[in-house]
Amino acid sequence: MRKGIAFIVSGPSGGGKTTLAKSMLHELDNLRFSVSCTTRKPREGEVDGKDYKFISEAEFEKMAQEGRFVEHALVHGNYYGTPVEEFEDAKASGVDLLLDIDVQGASQIKQSYPEAIFCFVMPPTFEILKDRLSRRNANGEIDIDQRLVRAKEEMAPSVLEQYDFIIINDQLDEALETIHSIIISTRCQSKRVLEKIKENL
Ligand code: ADP
Ligand code: 5GP
Repeated sequence: MRKGIAFIVSGPSGGGKTTLAKSMLHELDNLRFSVSCTTRKPREGEVDGKDYKFISEAEFEKMAQEGRFVEHALVHGNYYGTPVEEFEDAKASGVDLLLDIDVQGASQIKQSYPEAIFCFVMPPTFEILKDRLSRRNANGEIDIDQRLVRAKEEMAPSVLEQYDFIIINDQLDEALETIHSIIISTRCQSKRVLEKIKENL
C-alpha cells in the first residue's frame, strides 16, 4: 500500500494556515487533519477530538515524558503536540495527513521525518498580518503585538529556507490554488506513483 504523505502547514499566527487547511480538507480526498493535543482552553465552537484534544498540563507533561509526541512546543503560552499515533496511523493506512503546526514543531519534524512536505504560509505584508489578526481578535483574547514580534522571528530567511514551499497568502483564491497544486503535484511525484505501479505488476 502507498505510504501516506505528511503535509506540514506552518507560519505565523494570522497568516492563514487554518483557512487554507480547512478548504483543502473539504476539497481533497484521502487527506486527514492531524488532531493535536493542547493545554489551551477550547474556543467557542471547537469540538474536543475534532479540532484538538483538549488536555490538562499534567496529562500533556506525562505524554511528553512517555515520548508520545512526534513534536511538541510552547506556543503563545500554551502547549501543543502532535501525537505519535496520529502520525503513524495515517502513514501506515496510506492516508495523507495535514498538520497545522508552528515553526518550532515543523523544525522538530524536519529532524525526525525529513520526508514530510514543508509548506510555509506567509502574509503579503506585516500591515496585512496585523489587520487580519485584529479582525479575528473580536473578543480581545490574544496579544497582537506579541504575535507580531514572534511573526518577525518566524519569517526570518534562516527559518524560511527550511521549507519546500512558501505560499504567499494575498488573494485567498490564488493561495488556495497554490496549496492545492502543491498537494496534487506531490502526490504525482514519480517515486510515489512508481511505488504503486510496481505493486500492481
Ligand atoms: P492562522 O490559522 O494562520 O492563524 P487564519 O486562517 O485563522 O490564520 O487566518 C487569520 C484571519 O485572516 C482569519 O480571520 C481569516 O478569515 C483571514 N484570512 C485568511 N486568509 C485571508 C486572505 N487571503 N484574505 C483576507 N483574509 C484572510
Ligand atoms: P491556535 O491556538 O490558534 O489554534 O494555534 C496556535 C498555534 O499553535 C498555531 O500556530 C498552530 O499552528 C500551532 N499548533 C497547533 N497544533 C500544534 C501542534 O501540535 N504542535 C505545534 N508545534 N504547534 C501547533
